[in-house]
Amino acid sequence: MAAVSSIEDVDVVVVGLGPAGALAAAGAAEAGLNVVAFERKKTPGQPVQCAEFVPAMLHHETAHIKAVTQQLISHMRSFVEGQPPDDTADFRGHMIDRDRFDAQMVAQARAMGARCEIGIGVAAISADGILQTTDGRCFRPRVLIGADGPRSIVGRAMGSRNTELVETRQITVALLQPLNGTDIFLRADIVGGYGWLFPKGSFANLGLGVVPNERDRLKPLLHQLHGELQEQGRVSAEIIQHTGGAIPVGGMIKCLGKLGTVEVLLAGDAAGLTNPIPGAGIPAAIHSGMLAGAALRGWFAGAPEALAEYEVELEDLYQTSLERACRRRAEMLSQYDHGGRPDAAALRRSWIAYDAYWAA
Ligand SMILES: Cc1cc2nc3c(=O)[nH]c(=O)nc-3n(C[C@H](O)[C@H](O)[C@H](O)COP(=O)(O)OP(=O)(O)OC[C@H]3O[C@@H](n4cnc5c(N)ncnc54)[C@H](O)[C@@H]3O)c2cc1C
Repeated sequence: MAAVSSIEDVDVVVVGLGPAGALAAAGAAEAGLNVVAFERKKTPGQPVQCAEFVPAMLHHETAHIKAVTQQLISHMRSFVEGQPPDDTADFRGHMIDRDRFDAQMVAQARAMGARCEIGIGVAAISADGILQTTDGRCFRPRVLIGADGPRSIVGRAMGSRNTELVETRQITVALLQPLNGTDIFLRADIVGGYGWLFPKGSFANLGLGVVPNERDRLKPLLHQLHGELQEQGRVSAEIIQHTGGAIPVGGMIKCLGKLGTVEVLLAGDAAGLTNPIPGAGIPAAIHSGMLAGAALRGWFAGAPEALAEYEVELEDLYQTSLERACRRRAEMLSQYDHGGRPDAAALRRSWIAYDAYWAA
């Protein structure tokens, strides 16, 4: 770490202002703690790196969803290659403007009193928990929150990193036919992931994800899927926007640690809470951010067990479903051993819409 003139002592530093970080910052600041949060993007939530679907249940838990909803989703259709689509009725949710959602969360953190520094990243973290920002300042928190996504610098500093990722590519296209469900494309060629077409009013997010060593195939595979949907008259040829990003798919990792005397908590994608099968991580980011905020309030109020309880609560909430998802993912990937490929039954077993996924 470069030499610095002074170190600012604060109660809490939050790295990353996605939903997990913004809610943790808001929750801690609400209790009057001195919270400083860093987000390296110049504008919170932009560029959007998300397919923007959230399940209906979440709507009841955070008022923010309604304000940013673009379209309601009523069902899901799963297209297993070579088979007619299977409809999952009553798969409800919201298609949201993710950039507006993230911006709202940051506004809430600010309103609670958190100092949110946008366009400033954390460049380095020392073994004793001192952070250096990209503009050369240093901070020593009593508690450090890593809410900095799948390739978390905080997780790396405390030795708890996501090791398995899916790489994604997504385009936004115009929808030429109305769609009020999420379409899922399960194909052996899309190794370790799936394709999606999620409607958002007169547009749709069309994307897919694959294991990292198939990254070079993302572009041709997406081009092919886009071409098929154009031939069916469903979407425009014109591409309005490109995005992508990594999704952690290895399941939950250790979310509590220490750097010197600094307590460290991971939340959201940094803690590996995203479900490895659908790649959905917004609900877990929201819940873990709220729980992290509550844990900080407890710890600073003199309840040392509050941090350990955070870990237990995350395990209670997510471990079972994440373990099943990881198991199904490993089974699906093992189908490629020795030059094999998953057949329709194996693809079904690897997707949440099918009974086989939920079977023992
Ligand atoms: C293409 C794609 C599609 C997806 N679609 C969906 C979907 O439809 N539904 C769903 O539920 N989930 C989806 N996900 C997953 C979802 O986006 C994540 O699970 C969710 O954003 C996790 O929230 P978070 O707050 O943990 O992390 P993030 O939202 O990733 O926020 C982390 C923040 O940390 C910042 N950061 C990173 N490093 C630093 C640093 N060193 N210093 C300062 N700031 C830093 C980043 O800029 C980022 O803003 C998708 C993911 C991808 C990539």
